[in-house]
Amino acid sequence: MLIETFIVGMYETNCYIVYDEKTLEACIIDPGDEAKRLAKFIDSKNLILNSIILTHYHYDHIGAVEELQRKYGSQIYCHKKEVEGLNDSQINGSIIGKKKVIEVTGDKLLSDGNVIRVGEIDLEVIHTPGHTPGGICLRVKNKNIIFTGDTIFSDDLGRTDLIGGSEEVLKKTITNKVSKWPDNIIIYPGHGDICSMREVRGRKIQYLTSKVK
Ligand SMILES: [Zn+2]
Ligand SMILES: [Zn+2]
Repeated sequence: MLIETFIVGMYETNCYIVYDEKTLEACIIDPGDEAKRLAKFIDSKNLILNSIILTHYHYDHIGAVEELQRKYGSQIYCHKKEVEGLNDSQINGSIIGKKKVIEVTGDKLLSDGNVIRVGEIDLEVIHTPGHTPGGICLRVKNKNIIFTGDTIFSDDLGRTDLIGGSEEVLKKTITNKVSKWPDNIIIYPGHGDICSMREVRGRKIQYLTSKVK
C-alpha cells in the first residue's frame, strides 16, 4: 500500500491518494481542489480510480470531486448523514467560501463499520460525528493508520460552529472513540501535519484522555 499526500486549495486541505501498487487500484480521500494536479499523478502511475471517499461535506474537501468523477467514472462514498450537506451549497459552505457552487451526489452511502476495499487494502469506516453529522474517519486494516478528516488534527479538534456541527456530539466522539485509539496509530488529518496518537496525546487536546484504558 502506498499513500501520496497533496495539499490542495486555499484552505490547504490534505488530499490522500491511497493505492495498491500491485493491482494499481486506488481511492482518493477528500479531493478538495486542484483536480488537474491530482489527475496528473493518477495518470502518471496508471492508477485505476475506483473510489472517491469523502470524510465530510465541507467544500474545502470536495472541490475536485466532480471533475475527477467525470474523468474516471469513480464511485463517490460518503456517510449517509452527509448526503444533504454534499448536495447543498449553503450547508457545505461552497457558496460562501468560494463563490462557486459545489453540489455532489453520493453513490455509496456508508455506515459505521462498513469496509471499503481498494485492491488488497481494506478501509474501515468509523463514524465520528461532531464537526459534521456524518463525518467519518477511515482506518486501514492491518496497519496503524487512520485518516481523520477534520475530526482531529495534530494539535486540535475540528471546529463545531459551522452548520451541522455540535460540540456535544464531538465531545462524545472523542471520549468514546478517538480516545480509545492506541498510541502507535498514525493520524493522517484533513489539514496540517501527520502525527502519532502518542504525539497528539502529549498536546493535551480537549476531551482526549491521556491514557488508553
Ligand atoms: Zn471541515
Ligand atoms: Zn477542512
